[in-house]
Amino acid sequence: MPVISASDRRPYRIGLASSRTHQDAPHSPLAQLINGSRAAIEQHLQPNLIVVGRTLDAINQLGLLDGYPHVERFPYGRQGGLMKLVSRVVDSDPTRTLDAVIYLMDPVDPSSTFPEAVALKRQCVIHGKPFLSTLAGAREWLELESVALGAVTNPELDLSFDLANEGIALIAHDAMKERMLAIAERHFSLLDQFAFRCATGTTGSLLNKLAQKIKGEEAGRHWVKPFLSGPMGGDAQIAELILDRQQCRRVLFLEDPHVARQHEADIQLLERAARTVTDYALCINDAGCGERWLTLLEKRVSLKSN
Ligand code: PGA
Repeated sequence: MPVISASDRRPYRIGLASSRTHQDAPHSPLAQLINGSRAAIEQHLQPNLIVVGRTLDAINQLGLLDGYPHVERFPYGRQGGLMKLVSRVVDSDPTRTLDAVIYLMDPVDPSSTFPEAVALKRQCVIHGKPFLSTLAGAREWLELESVALGAVTNPELDLSFDLANEGIALIAHDAMKERMLAIAERHFSLLDQFAFRCATGTTGSLLNKLAQKIKGEEAGRHWVKPFLSGPMGGDAQIAELILDRQQCRRVLFLEDPHVARQHEADIQLLERAARTVTDYALCINDAGCGERWLTLLEKRVSLKSN
């Protein structure tokens, strides 16, 4: 298959940062990301990478992007590098804005809870831009966006696209439940291929009603396994599945970023669980990104079986 050039559209501008503990070693998550997604970065997507100071120092020390021309240095964290990334997420100027953020976060690094880190994710959700905080999430996104351009698939990732062995968690805050149902209906046949689906309580019962409408009363009854409602601890129950690396690596969590959330700690806990197993789990946090993700996932899954 010919290498597809990214030259016929504006290349993505991707903000890149990493917790300190995810940077330095030759097999750090940062190194695994760049080495494992090298073709996607250097050949297929050729994004502009806007990289926060110390992350770029680590990339240079490890020689991870030697010769790659599209790199812009942003200040160190203590000089406001992350804060500037937030400003660029919301910027409408195409020469300045970020199309996606990859921030490989170590949940036990206190900087992962700093306001600028929280705001970075929140503004990505509000502006409908991917916020990829795990190695697995970043690798999958780069792979799917490459496949969208017609690039050859990366066989190293094949196993994770074998949906008959995969689970998915589906969660939606109240204002987003209609959207979740619409997405699930549009992508029902893909979601149906997963070995296992789970959800928080109310989202789960709505999804099972949808499945009953589509598959029939009996066949759809247990389409999704509902855990407790989010505010009653359902997010924590799903977090345990993720931490156990057995049933569920993907989470589609349609958050409502515009309301105060009584169970904010639980919501953060779930994301932090995914970051704890960074090479395994991923979260997608808004409806637009979720739609694109499922569309491209379908394409990638069909390519795998060819
Ligand atoms: P619910 O929980 O599906 O039970 O509404 C979602 C949430 O609010 O976290």
